[in-house]
Amino acid sequence: MAEVCYLCGRPIDSEPASGDHVIPVSLITRDQPKAKGFDYGGKLPTHADCNNRFGPETYVTKALDLLEFLVGADGHGEFQHRDHPHITIKALDASKLPNFTQRDIEFFKFMDVREEDYDAWSKPEFFNGKQKTNPMRDALHVAFSVLAKSAAALLIKRDLHAVPPAWRIYAAPFSGATDAVDFGGILGDTKSFDPGVHVWRKPLSATDWLVVYRARSVLLFLVFVFSGENAGATLKQHFQGAEVHEFSGTSLNELLTTGWRKL
Ligand SMILES: [Zn+2]
Repeated sequence: MAEVCYLCGRPIDSEPASGDHVIPVSLITRDQPKAKGFDYGGKLPTHADCNNRFGPETYVTKALDLLEFLVGADGHGEFQHRDHPHITIKALDASKLPNFTQRDIEFFKFMDVREEDYDAWSKPEFFNGKQKTNPMRDALHVAFSVLAKSAAALLIKRDLHAVPPAWRIYAAPFSGATDAVDFGGILGDTKSFDPGVHVWRKPLSATDWLVVYRARSVLLFLVFVFSGENAGATLKQHFQGAEVHEFSGTSLNELLTTGWRKL
């Protein structure tokens, strides 16, 4: 039987196949694959093309850095332009994001004004033709997509043992997670994949799954609904005070195209 690529759902025939790490390599700081006391997620087969398309994976740690920074109190602020109140500027202290490269700055659509005169960037003309951006939202979406894909991979590998023909995923993010966060009592004990990287899975029904994914300070509640039902309203009630985002598609590749919809 031909292997199936878990990202597009199509068979892998003669095309060059590659293996995708179930837990993103960028989240693992220890030596892979085996280390005492840690779980190892292994790999799932994919087309090389499909695997490469998930470029944002390399940005997941940057997205997590950015989220940690933005939920903290220091080094950022939002300002309304004094003379042009329709312009809102979110200023970030670059020294708080020492690992951000020029490529990351472009990916998150920041405008680097460290080399610019205040006179230049305080004029509304400076913003003409520049894309409006919301780094918190972009960082969340990158983190969602990569963590949801990883949670999906873990479900396929350990629970479903097949690639589902369609996906409906709900994601509710929380920040400020620490090692004190432990769902072992209610969702079953599991080992960490790396310090600060922990995933709990539990069936909610004969078809649906809850996955709680902790990646450092970010805690993502994911509900995978394979019964075809729309669970948005129930989940919004359940996760009061949190933003609930929905993805539905026939393949995980669509995380990169149709993406997430905020409910
Ligand atoms: Zn594929």
